[in-house]
Amino acid sequence: MVASTGLAVAAILLVAMTAAGWWTFRNERRGLREVREGSLRSTLVLLEESAARLLAAEELSGLRTVVANAARDEGLASCRVTLAGAGIVADSDVSRIGVQRLPERWGTLEATASEMSEAEGVLTLRTPVRIPGRGDAVLEVSAPLAGTSPASWRAQAGLGVIGAAGMVALLLVYRRMRARFRAIGAIGEALRALAGGETAEAALVISPTFGAEAEAWNRMLAERASERREALAARVREPGGPRADLSGELAQACDAMWQGLVLIDEHLRVRYANGAAAAFLGVKRDQLVDAEVAPALGDARLIDVVRDIAAGRIRRRETVEIQRGADRGGGILRFSVRPVRREDSAAAIILIEDVTQQRVADEARNSFVAHATHELRTPLTNIRLYVERALEEGEKDATVRASCLNVINRESRRLERIVGDMLSVSEIEAGSLKLRVNDVRVDAVFEELRDEFAAQAQEKKIKLTFALPPKWPLVQGDRDKIVLALHNLVGNAIKYTPEGGEVTVKVEEEGGRLVVDVTDTGIGIGEGETELIFEKFYRAKDERLAGITGSGLGLTLAREVVRLHGGDIAVRSQLNKGSTFTVTLPVTAQAA
Ligand code: ADP
Repeated sequence: MVASTGLAVAAILLVAMTAAGWWTFRNERRGLREVREGSLRSTLVLLEESAARLLAAEELSGLRTVVANAARDEGLASCRVTLAGAGIVADSDVSRIGVQRLPERWGTLEATASEMSEAEGVLTLRTPVRIPGRGDAVLEVSAPLAGTSPASWRAQAGLGVIGAAGMVALLLVYRRMRARFRAIGAIGEALRALAGGETAEAALVISPTFGAEAEAWNRMLAERASERREALAARVREPGGPRADLSGELAQACDAMWQGLVLIDEHLRVRYANGAAAAFLGVKRDQLVDAEVAPALGDARLIDVVRDIAAGRIRRRETVEIQRGADRGGGILRFSVRPVRREDSAAAIILIEDVTQQRVADEARNSFVAHATHELRTPLTNIRLYVERALEEGEKDATVRASCLNVINRESRRLERIVGDMLSVSEIEAGSLKLRVNDVRVDAVFEELRDEFAAQAQEKKIKLTFALPPKWPLVQGDRDKIVLALHNLVGNAIKYTPEGGEVTVKVEEEGGRLVVDVTDTGIGIGEGETELIFEKFYRAKDERLAGITGSGLGLTLAREVVRLHGGDIAVRSQLNKGSTFTVTLPVTAQAA
């Protein structure tokens, strides 16, 4: 680059100087010619007048003297007067004179104006001279066009010398600057590499042979590298160390995790935290990273565990579960803390999970197991007791035998129902609950329900009313499952209504749907629980439920079954006043 710039400057200088020389030369020539032409013209005018007068007076010697003087004084190459068709009558070169005496008459000319010609560096002007009554003559003067003057040649030479001196100077400067230009070029390239992301010192260093600039540049690079090394070392030494730089796919993967992930160092400073961790801890991610982890964790027991693991006092994984305050959205968070390798300067990793749902499900399952065991044991115990009694006394007393068999029958049906519910729930969970669809005679279903619950209602002194329509629509579905759903609802109404209450089952057809309202005057359901009661194993948090057996599965099953039929179950309830469960089922046609 440096060489090509030098060459270009030299070439421009050369061309400019040549052009300047040529231009001066040309202008000078043109000027000289104009001067010569002007003086020739004025000589011609003067001579023309004298020649005409002397010819008319036939003073040939006078004419020749005038011509000779003019040629000498004006420095002419030649000066002559030629008679048309007769020959030269006067000439600066006397040897050319051909006409010694003027004839009486001589020829005439066609040309009337003067003319000019130039040949071999000689400028010639001619003009006709008319001698009335005698003839025409031609006056001709010629003079050499003066060549370039010595001064001009000197100017040209001067220019040439200046140009050459300039070139030499340029060459000397170029030779001196070449190394420095190279250094600047190399520094430029290094800067471009730096801007392009190159950070390796080795790739940015330039050859020290390029001079002082190159040395200064290399020194600056070395200082920069050592400063960076020191800063890095200082950051490693300072508490917190360098921030964990998770980049690319790993960072994306960590950010996409629904569990919170926090990496901390031995000083309990956060080196990395994903978005979920920030959300769980209720802190902005920016505020979490590089800060102490303790304030974000809050819980003293958890902080102790984290501190022990980060300091290497505990070398196994520890799990702490914390009940989150209502201000942070409640629920249970599980913190799993484990040590990580020392080399990467992180001391512990904390994994945060929301286990609220898991806990709720666990609790529900545990309470179900307790309830189910109780529910199964009660009928089984009754069956065993009544079988023993029938065996002992039944042989002698037919009434005792009949009453025993009655109880055994009732208890085994209860047992069957519980087991059936449990099976159905597991089918729902596995998604394998299938319907055996047929035309269902709904009127018969309600008759059956009435018969089944009459004794139970009577026992509890509950007024059980069935408000049934005169005309019954046809419903398509799984009869057993529909019976199961309605059975659970009416059973609950009686179960959760104290003695002396009322239970009404109202059936109507409304807008192509069968609508069944099961209304009771029972204990009611709290406002916050009307949706929860449909979740499996859920039982209302009501002290009065302590004495009432149940699995928390009935409503789950009922809603699931009704929804499988294209319908739904809704509930309206007021605590201590009663509840209405409304079942809607699509209707196929009017029964015959
Ligand atoms: P359970 O076997 O406990 O009755 P269900 O799924 O049938 O289970 O009902 C879930 C819960 O809903 C019950 O435990 C009870 O708290 C509440 N519940 C259901 N029906 C009624 C009702 N008619 N009146 C008051 N509470 C009811």
